Amino acid sequence: MTNPKISMRMNGVLYLAILRRWGTVGLNQTSVEWGDAPIKNWSGTAVDFPGRDSKKISPAVVLDGEAQKYHCLACPLGCGGTMKANGAIPVSHKPEYETTLAFSGLLLSKDWEAVMLINDLLNRAGMDSISAGGTVAAAIEWFEKGLITKTETDGLDLTWGNTEAIIVLVRKMIAREGFGDLLADGSKQAAFRLDIRGQEALVTAGGSELAMHDPRLDPGFGLHASVEPTPGRHTTGAFIYYDMFRLWTRVPELPKPTLLYSKQEAFKPSSESAIKSVAMSCYTNFFNALGICLFGTFLGLDVLPLFDWANAATGFDLTPQEYLRIGWRIQTVRQMFNIKQGIAPVKIRVNPRALGFPPQESGPNSGAQVQLDEMRWNYWAEIGWDPETGIPTRETLLALGLTHLIDREEVYGIQDHLDLSGLSGVRSDLPDPGD
Ligand code: SF4
Repeated sequence: MTNPKISMRMNGVLYLAILRRWGTVGLNQTSVEWGDAPIKNWSGTAVDFPGRDSKKISPAVVLDGEAQKYHCLACPLGCGGTMKANGAIPVSHKPEYETTLAFSGLLLSKDWEAVMLINDLLNRAGMDSISAGGTVAAAIEWFEKGLITKTETDGLDLTWGNTEAIIVLVRKMIAREGFGDLLADGSKQAAFRLDIRGQEALVTAGGSELAMHDPRLDPGFGLHASVEPTPGRHTTGAFIYYDMFRLWTRVPELPKPTLLYSKQEAFKPSSESAIKSVAMSCYTNFFNALGICLFGTFLGLDVLPLFDWANAATGFDLTPQEYLRIGWRIQTVRQMFNIKQGIAPVKIRVNPRALGFPPQESGPNSGAQVQLDEMRWNYWAEIGWDPETGIPTRETLLALGLTHLIDREEVYGIQDHLDLSGLSGVRSDLPDPGD
């Protein structure tokens, strides 16, 4: 597998054609091959999960078991689907890309039916499949490294790819039973409860397990996972999203990416990439506030005139720039909420493994390293937050009309005593993996 030097700007119209036919699983196998899907708790590559394994979760396999497609109300895309009953698995929701990769490549499990079963179990329990998969991956790594044994795992042989044990473990997590109870609140809490000091297996951002999109392929995923007030998410920004949003078609002062670009250049922190990222945060907050689906926005603003629709629906007469300013204000309010709760933005770190430290030696992301600190400073400076602390400046709060958040002791005084000790019982001496 080679590491291409040149990439092409992503076209959202093409992606949506895939979405209509297969749903989010349409890129299952491709994502393994091109380095978007993390393998073996982010330490492996497609070499560890080769084509003969990833074909078990291929879009064709998924489509074969699909009973019917479904659409959210009035959506012309219809990415959803139900799966036919399959033995012990009842008619169920079609697994999404995230669930599929979290319970296949991430754990080296090659069993599509197990993915369907686990997806159904987690859906019925109301548990997040990204966090569940990331937590199981950490547990397997601990077991393989001898940090825990069958004594802790209730006798489960928790090795890579042991699908049977993975299913039992997920059932235990849902039932909060034995070892499953220790894992049920996520990998960070599990490490605390098991008194595991080695943090490298916790692939989180601010304690949230990372979604199945690799910052070593698109550094924007790493940046947005760490700067968003709800860290670790994959739905708030990435440079591939910037390509598809096509913001520059309505806001001409924003950078227009070239059709072909150097992959190496994309990893260099720059003021231009900070401008793109901040614009994405503002835009994402804008369309989230409208209740618009992220997938639809991938069509691009020149195809989906969201600003015009917002004006038509509200009776406002605002410019795209004014709508982005609303998004900026939302992002800043969310950041201030965190700060008021004692969450230090600088402590929201991404596990170095997912950023290419150490770099991968083979595979499509070989050698890639994300300079997250510099990218974050640039982002915070661009959005009007203090570049050192990530706390919105007084000038920004004033400019956004958030005067009620200025001069409040409990907000600004908090800079002197920020720690994580008050957060859901998280032990303050347990560092985030990136610390
Ligand atoms: S609204 Fe979004 S999630 Fe729902 S069917 Fe359409 S594309 Fe899929």
